[in-house]
Amino acid sequence: MAKNSIINGMCGKGLSLLDAYQRAATAYAESVSEMFTRIGITPRHEYDQLRLASEVARKNSELAREALERHQREHSCQRINQAMRAG
Ligand SMILES: [Zn+2]
Repeated sequence: MAKNSIINGMCGKGLSLLDAYQRAATAYAESVSEMFTRIGITPRHEYDQLRLASEVARKNSELAREALERHQREHSCQRINQAMRAG
């Protein structure tokens, strides 16, 4: 059996894009949570840097999501989120 050809209806490329997106989304969530932890206790300029880092992380996760969605459109490989769009 070719184990890594298709898993849950998604090809290896799709899975690696999904993985990249999940990492980027996690990094963004962590940067937001760090920002909220530090609000009010961190000097303004440091807080601004956290805010900027979080903005970059948000863009990264958007780009990763777009890459994933584009791949799914072009390649018709989908995972469980088909269920969310059904109906
Ligand atoms: Zn694919």
